[in-house]
Amino acid sequence: MLTGCHGLTFMDALRKVWFMSVILVTGGAGYIGSHLCKALAQRGFVPVTYDNFVTGHRWAVRWGPLEEGDLADRARLDRVLERHRPAAVMHFAASTFVGESVANPGKFYRNNVAGSLSLLEAMRDHAIQKLVFSSSCAVYGAPLQLPLTEAHPQRPVSPYGFTKHVVERLLADFGRAHGLHSISLRYFNAAGADPDGDAGEVHLPETHLIPLALAAVAGHAPPLTILGTDYATPDGSCVRDYVHVTDLAAAHVQALMAMEHFPAGQGVAEAFNLGAGQGYSVLQVLAMIRQLTGREVPAVVGPRRPGDPPLLVGDASRARQELGWSPGYSSLATIIETAWNWMQHMPPA
Ligand code: UDP
Repeated sequence: MLTGCHGLTFMDALRKVWFMSVILVTGGAGYIGSHLCKALAQRGFVPVTYDNFVTGHRWAVRWGPLEEGDLADRARLDRVLERHRPAAVMHFAASTFVGESVANPGKFYRNNVAGSLSLLEAMRDHAIQKLVFSSSCAVYGAPLQLPLTEAHPQRPVSPYGFTKHVVERLLADFGRAHGLHSISLRYFNAAGADPDGDAGEVHLPETHLIPLALAAVAGHAPPLTILGTDYATPDGSCVRDYVHVTDLAAAHVQALMAMEHFPAGQGVAEAFNLGAGQGYSVLQVLAMIRQLTGREVPAVVGPRRPGDPPLLVGDASRARQELGWSPGYSSLATIIETAWNWMQHMPPA
């Protein structure tokens, strides 16, 4: 870590510069967005949530002002940008269910691509030059080699993955044309909950493995269906790279800081993988839940889910080296413990 004058570290000095800066967080009422708002507030920023509450939760907006609105509503976006004059935007608002994107691609192109375009044009017109984008490992499609690095070819399989790919391209084009500075963060499997129990995952409907398995243990949900045990993996079930949501939030703040070093007057679009770098199978996740809760996960074996790749593991060494990202919560045990704690205390949906 670089150290400046008066014993301040370089990061301390940057924090002083940014202190009380307003950051617009689209989708700030969602799962990852709400954790990010907490991380920003803890570091002296003012996170302004912009959310249409189609999937977000009002109880999740706790760390800064709320502006209700839709990305498609350009007049509303203009008023919000005028009122708060954010120093940067963190862009989470999007439709995210991969299966739904196959059944209803129009919704995903409208919300994710057209919505992002509306945001970028509003930012351009208000001279806001910094954006951190919530991207996904779905941009890569079926892995040709593992772990996936940022250089892996991008051949997304689902409309969801393709919308993330297109928005990354939009960011690069807006960089070249309008000088936008952007960082896309390609998450692997976001999981876990705020370690203090202040935020966590509530999706309607829930489709993700860990909350579904924990809900089954708690008796709030039917037995989990294990979606395939006949894959070419060590135990036959799918392997994923689970990364803690608090570590994802921290990476966004570090990305914001990193953009301070981008050359002025010249667009830059960077992308970083965010994963723990360790794969766990569905059966290993269930075994860890059993170990930590002392209870068996009620489960049945079902067929494969179409489009599920057998193995997805990310190489996040670039984020570690260039952003100084150091995920401290992403052990499988911490992910499950925090998610289990959240399940005991979460507000009713
Ligand atoms: N999975 C499962 N049962 C479920 C939901 C998920 O077996 O009810 C498996 C799924 O096949 C995948 C892993 O759990 O291998 C993680 O799925 P999730 O939906 O949490 O995230 P994804 O990898 O699809 O983004």
